[in-house]
Amino acid sequence: MEERAMFCPACGSKNREAARFCARCGNNLPTPGTALPSRKGDELLRQLDLCIVMDATGSMQDYIEMTRKNLQAFVQKLSLHPVQPQLAYGLVLYRDHPATEKNWVTRRYAFTEQLDDLQQALNEAHAKGGGGDGAEAVVDGLYDACYVMKWRENAHKVILLAGDAPPHGWGNRRDRYPKGCPCEPEHGTVISIAQNARQRGITIFSLGIGDNQAMQKSFEQIAGTSGGRYVPIKSAGKLIDEVLSIMLSEVGKVEIDQVVYRAYQPGATPQAIAALTGLKIGDVDESMNRLHQKRMLQ
Ligand SMILES: [Zn+2]
Ligand SMILES: [Zn+2]
Repeated sequence: MEERAMFCPACGSKNREAARFCARCGNNLPTPGTALPSRKGDELLRQLDLCIVMDATGSMQDYIEMTRKNLQAFVQKLSLHPVQPQLAYGLVLYRDHPATEKNWVTRRYAFTEQLDDLQQALNEAHAKGGGGDGAEAVVDGLYDACYVMKWRENAHKVILLAGDAPPHGWGNRRDRYPKGCPCEPEHGTVISIAQNARQRGITIFSLGIGDNQAMQKSFEQIAGTSGGRYVPIKSAGKLIDEVLSIMLSEVGKVEIDQVVYRAYQPGATPQAIAALTGLKIGDVDESMNRLHQKRMLQ
């Protein structure tokens, strides 16, 4: 009968289950029974906060409508994933300065687990009017999403930024504020906001609608800075497919975090965890960074 094995958390090599030290590297081996996954940690690692940040000026009407219509189906597909993510949805709509009664700058809808609330918010969006100068208050939308919305501390955090116009100050031909959004002295730029998002574990994916070059450039840099990705959207019909593919890949990261969290022992290296779990070392490395950020690893 083959004896059960114990894998060293530091170097990944196989040891007798009863061994107290690794035969290869001398590291302390966990006592059998202490490596059980914490239920609490597993629960926390199912949390996924999704904040949609959307341009709500006139040209975006079709996209807002498309999002509202497909939300239910989208969430159903996500919840079929074996991870069964525990989703909370937030929404920030932005238009432009100056704020008037008709033309607000941003509207925020706090994170909720109720899909109905989000649909209701999108119903009220009424994308009309807007700045009319071809650049919008992207800074304000991202600022609210990153700093004002109440993210769950341990949740996997994703922003989906969707728009067809650049922020002010990105060289768009018609721009009422060519030197940048009037709130920048207070809020920072889209890039500094994206940097801060990354430090706090918030990844921004930007969905660029249409072919405005200043929009493409700015949206690419926003996503790249935060560790996310820029996705060009060719038509309203493509929006939901792209969003689903982004979110499925994010749920995949949540799954990796769960596996890494369970396999982790104090002092374990990414190499050892990769050997233990069969995950790619790059994926383990990224996952350990996320778990450290959430203070879930010792
Ligand atoms: Zn070892
Ligand atoms: Zn602004």
